[in-house]
Amino acid sequence: STNRPVSRVAVLGATGSIGVAALDVIENLNRCDPDFAWEVSSMSGHSQIDPLIELAGGCHTPPKCVVVSDAEMEAQAAKALKTASTQTNSRLTERCRLDVGPDALVRAATEKDVDVVVAAIVGRAGLESTLAAVHAGKRVALANKETLVVAGPVVTRAAADNGAELLPVDSEHSAIFQCLAESRARQSQFATAKQPNTAADPSAKTHWPGVRRLILTASGGPFRDWTTAQMREATIEQALAHPTWKMGAKITIDSASMMNKALEVIEAKWLFDVPADKIEVVVHPQSLIHSLVEFEDGSLIAQVSPPDMRMPIQYALTFPRRLPCPAPELDRTQGWDMSLCPADPDRFPALALGFEVARVGGTAGAVVNAANETAVDLFLNGQIRFTDIPEICRRTLLDHDHESSPTLERLLKLDVWARGRARELAQI
Ligand code: NAD
Ligand code: MG
Repeated sequence: STNRPVSRVAVLGATGSIGVAALDVIENLNRCDPDFAWEVSSMSGHSQIDPLIELAGGCHTPPKCVVVSDAEMEAQAAKALKTASTQTNSRLTERCRLDVGPDALVRAATEKDVDVVVAAIVGRAGLESTLAAVHAGKRVALANKETLVVAGPVVTRAAADNGAELLPVDSEHSAIFQCLAESRARQSQFATAKQPNTAADPSAKTHWPGVRRLILTASGGPFRDWTTAQMREATIEQALAHPTWKMGAKITIDSASMMNKALEVIEAKWLFDVPADKIEVVVHPQSLIHSLVEFEDGSLIAQVSPPDMRMPIQYALTFPRRLPCPAPELDRTQGWDMSLCPADPDRFPALALGFEVARVGGTAGAVVNAANETAVDLFLNGQIRFTDIPEICRRTLLDHDHESSPTLERLLKLDVWARGRARELAQI
């Protein structure tokens, strides 16, 4: 298998929960993919230098470039890279370049010989590099859902215009993508099937033949059965204790407030080009059914696998091929439960907000995302209550002048404005 063509991957956000899982998938694929060799061509971390250098040194073929997006870390990063390249337990050599600052992410995402970009940076910080990868016509394995929430129309339009493939890593969206296979078989290709954009016309029927509804599952998070009064008193530790998934801090808090599901409703709208009223959320505590598609004849197709992000990450890399994956199998030697129940928007007001934002589109996504990122930071710093998070988001949304077809520039300005407004509201 020495002559296998090489598939080169840029892993942006490599030090995070998704990034580390992606590196594991890539190493495993390189061992077991009969058709391609897999290499990490570049990887990024923000300010955690030592884990980044260690991850880079652990790759079978070390990356050509290590990106440190926090410009203030340049000196420390250069020193760590130099040290590692002289150590015998690291495969890094002097040939591994260091590139620093936010623009370095864009350079890594658009590098000519990169085939796939894993967009695993958290939050709006991932927008420029994800969009750059789309403009460069890459396959994008998209974990960074915030980019679609902020600028869904801009990103999906750019993907269609540049022949980029936007493949979901988010487990729910990967599930829907997999469940849509039957419908997709009647389409020429996923990327081109995204035309025409029905989002502008909410009454338009989805272009997915025979599809009635997309049903996203939600674990319900650690507060699934809590009352609003209990959630008012929730501590940071309680909110960070997710029952089924081990993830970065921001998305873990989003899961507890169900803002994560709200962001996913918006993500689904843009990714699959369906109006908000064709999307539904149900609670499924075991996180085995990752989502379902309901067809016109009442048939439901679900995607089931153990809660391990390596499965959807790998599928985004190898689609449409399926290969062995390092994620564990579902244990069928014991009984297992798969229960479903309706979501409760009264206790989780973020959910209703998500549907509202998906319905109105335009500037609403950028505003709610910025308010939420700010509120989550404030909560994690002990400055606001857990239940203040959705309330700050709601009020920031109310305070902005909605526009239905904003430019990217306008969205980025609003992002800054909404962060300031959310901070002001947190003071009151
Ligand atoms: P994480 O906090 O574990 O990792 C975040 C990564 O982003 C790190 O590599 C960090 O260095 C980098 N980063 C942070 N701030 C940055 C900045 N300002 N500029 C550049 N890079 C920066 O997060 P995660 O859980 O891996 O989530 C990453 C993304 O994937 C999020 O958008 C999240 O919603 C999405 N996602 C995660 C999971 C999961 O299971 N963890 C599941 C679905 C979707
Ligand atoms: Mg998800």
